[in-house]
Amino acid sequence: MMKTDVHEMLIDLDKKHFIHPTSSLKQQHESGAPFIFSSGEGVYLTDTKGRKVLEGMSSLWNVNIGYGRKELAEAAYEQMSKLAFTNSFSSMSNEPAIRLAAKLAELAPGNLNAVFFTSGGSESNDTAYKLVRYYWKLKGLPDKKKIISQKKGYHGVNIGATSATGISPFHTLTNSPAPDFVHVDTFSIDSLKACIEKEGADNIAAFLTEPVQGAGGVNIAPEGYLQEVRAICDEHNILLIADEVITGFGRTGKMFACEHYSVVPDLLLFAKGVTSGYIPLGGVMVTDAIHRELVERSDGTLLHGYTYSGHATACAVGLKNIEILERENLVENSRLMGEELLNGFKELQMEFDFIGEVRALGLIGAIEMVHPITKQRFDSFIAPRVSEEAAKRGLIVRTVVFEGMDTVVFSPPLIINKQEVQELISIMRAALAAVQEEL
Ligand code: PMP
Repeated sequence: MMKTDVHEMLIDLDKKHFIHPTSSLKQQHESGAPFIFSSGEGVYLTDTKGRKVLEGMSSLWNVNIGYGRKELAEAAYEQMSKLAFTNSFSSMSNEPAIRLAAKLAELAPGNLNAVFFTSGGSESNDTAYKLVRYYWKLKGLPDKKKIISQKKGYHGVNIGATSATGISPFHTLTNSPAPDFVHVDTFSIDSLKACIEKEGADNIAAFLTEPVQGAGGVNIAPEGYLQEVRAICDEHNILLIADEVITGFGRTGKMFACEHYSVVPDLLLFAKGVTSGYIPLGGVMVTDAIHRELVERSDGTLLHGYTYSGHATACAVGLKNIEILERENLVENSRLMGEELLNGFKELQMEFDFIGEVRALGLIGAIEMVHPITKQRFDSFIAPRVSEEAAKRGLIVRTVVFEGMDTVVFSPPLIINKQEVQELISIMRAALAAVQEEL
């Protein structure tokens, strides 16, 4: 079959059988999948039509070490050939899970030394909400159940994680959020204090925050905010949960984003970058203090566990991924190339009068679209047009368009070099120029 015939056949089967996640199903059925990717190398992907694109998003903020890493395939092959999977229920264990847990304890800040494994970010979130409630119950405070999180925060799509998410369209999909979730204003100390006052600290289990909000538009916690949150949580006996599903493993130029603020949360959630997306894996790290309470106070079985908690092959891939991150100094590269990226954004901001704020921390960044005269949002969103024009020119980016945000977001692989950052900026320049013509 010709390449185009195969492509058309796949488009047809895709429409008929594949319900895409977080997608416009109507659009998929009317126009077909815009790209069907078939291979990747470094920061580039190639599709079934032979088109090569620069991946400005590391797929979903997760392919941190880039595409086509044979070492990860080999690690998976080796582990699968020996022992692909065995469960970790009833205190059974396996070597890759043990070694990865110990490695994570070494990497995580402060005394976050024990880990509960999951298969992704949503599971990590729901696990954390249950663990904090269980913790307070064991301590004789069963009313401490509420989870306070932030507007514009994104935590996943399980019922708990959706309820904690502060992006309203996710709630209106079903109109049935779980009870005991409350949202406060993004990075607002006053709003948090007012919420604690209203709900009562005796009813609050934890405060949940992303140090840098990802899906909410790459909003970076201002200096001092997390430190103040830490103090407020301590004062009110509220646990602090940091959702580092995007920001973990070097994305922001530190191994974990909390390190920028010198804050150690009580629980740290990870997924995505732990395996660079080569295989599903996530987890919840807890401090020694919480771990000790869970061990010493519990009397029966911790009735929470996924079949794939501590999956041997996933953990072996995670270990190899972290080895590469360290060997190639990719956290430092993220910091350096992040500066390069932000400089590029600033150049674009000088050149185009419809760019508002630009921001980045390591290799996660955003460009806001605003009306050139009013400096307010346009009446209709511009960012999706920019992203379309970028895709036509071989660059994948994402947009965040809700509650007045009209933003293009970026999260390229941590292996990106100077030349590739320049390429990304050049394509953005051409895409912005095309959109400018229409304005
Ligand atoms: N938390 C954050 C901060 C995320 O960005 C995401 C995914 N984008 C999740 C949780 C959910 O992770 P998953 O899609 O792996 O369930």
